Amino acid sequence: MIRRRSACVLALGLSMVPGLAGAAPAPKPGPNKEAVVASVERQRPALVDLANQVWGFAETALKETRSAKVLADYAAAQGFRVERGVAGMPTAFVASYGEGKPVIAVLGEYDALPGISQKAQPTKEPVTAGAPGHGCGHNLFGAASLGSAVAIKELIAAGKLHGTVRFYGTPAEESVGGKVYMVREGLFRDVDVVLAWHPADETRADTKSSQAMVDFVVDFHGKTSHAALDPWNGRSALDGLEIFTHALNMMREHVRPTVRMHYVIKDGGDVPNVVPDHARVWVWVRDVKHASVDELMVRVRKMAEGAALAADVESTLRVQSGYYERIVNFTGARLLQANMDWVGPIRYTGAEQDFARALQKAAGIPEKGLAGEVKPLDENPGDPKGASSDVGDVSWNVPVLHFSTTTAPIGSPWHAWPVAACGGMSIGHKGMVFAAKALAATMVDLFERPEARDAIRKEFAESTWGTAYKGYIPDGPPPVPATTP
Ligand SMILES: [Zn+2]
Repeated sequence: MIRRRSACVLALGLSMVPGLAGAAPAPKPGPNKEAVVASVERQRPALVDLANQVWGFAETALKETRSAKVLADYAAAQGFRVERGVAGMPTAFVASYGEGKPVIAVLGEYDALPGISQKAQPTKEPVTAGAPGHGCGHNLFGAASLGSAVAIKELIAAGKLHGTVRFYGTPAEESVGGKVYMVREGLFRDVDVVLAWHPADETRADTKSSQAMVDFVVDFHGKTSHAALDPWNGRSALDGLEIFTHALNMMREHVRPTVRMHYVIKDGGDVPNVVPDHARVWVWVRDVKHASVDELMVRVRKMAEGAALAADVESTLRVQSGYYERIVNFTGARLLQANMDWVGPIRYTGAEQDFARALQKAAGIPEKGLAGEVKPLDENPGDPKGASSDVGDVSWNVPVLHFSTTTAPIGSPWHAWPVAACGGMSIGHKGMVFAAKALAATMVDLFERPEARDAIRKEFAESTWGTAYKGYIPDGPPPVPATTP
């Protein structure tokens, strides 16, 4: 723990940080926790229906029109005040119930991924070839989080808890980063604590962070000519692009091992016999801290300029989006852990384990089945996995408690068909129900115990001390598609 704190201080470049909050808040099983678990069980058919509808819609970033509507309608029917179309995104919404402090919030996602349509079966077969699919399980994410908010709402309505519960319908996690725009809009300003979870192949309170990243495109503009008749009159934009990617690839030797860089060429010209006057490369650069990503971007900008100079063309680099790393709140993670242990392991039928092993066989991974147990808290988690999320940006503005829940077999390739398959059947639904219960039980503690909130907020203040948050998104409105289906 001390080692972790020192690393954090170094990374943030701080000379002094007050000590982190100490004692883990102990859970208090009681009637309110029993009540929220019972509420989630009562809601189970409705939540399964919501998750299945969103799974079927499979709408991608900022096109989640029907997905957002069914979730927002459910919240409204339960008596929430629902504000739709927040932060300039028609598919973003906030549903609130109750009055005053504390304000405890839960995040929900519902966007799908392009091109991974998949039936709820253990062999690869799309519902519609080439169509989007829920390869990250966000259909479960949104429904579980909303179910937990409804369970808390019932206790507020009964006068057993006091304050405000809020569900944030956050679109476009897979690209764009809807939450970054919601943060910029100030929508989290009055929130005390935020909870979030994510579908996974294991169940644990997360103490591993996520990676910071910047998403940008570099355009090269040259001069076209006939590639054989008068190539000397042309200046190839593609030459500029190739020099740029060459420089980027050479930089790989001189970055920390935690850095990830990947790109696709979106435009490299049309035909070989025309010197291309335009070329575009789309790049993501990631590392464990946004400060490191910022340093990398200084070098990358030089490469774009240098490549343009070498090819005698023009270059422009445009940042489209980017996420901060998620701040881990260990005090909150311990509270989550206690509640997840209390909710207990996810139990599977033989048929579900068979489904999982058949799927693992089809995917070419070890046939280990499903892991339903709650893993112990990892106090020394090391560097984050190579993934990023806009939950990171929320975590720099309000403390975020984050956990993972099994919704797919051990070792499932993520953003891929096995996850989509399980998200449309009972394996995914069981994870969703577990997540809803764990979220709601933890929220009961946060409402009932001001000292737990204070300890979490104290650690948050220490983690963010001396660092000014500025999201990576460009000025202006979010890139909402001109036409939505
Ligand atoms: Zn995801």
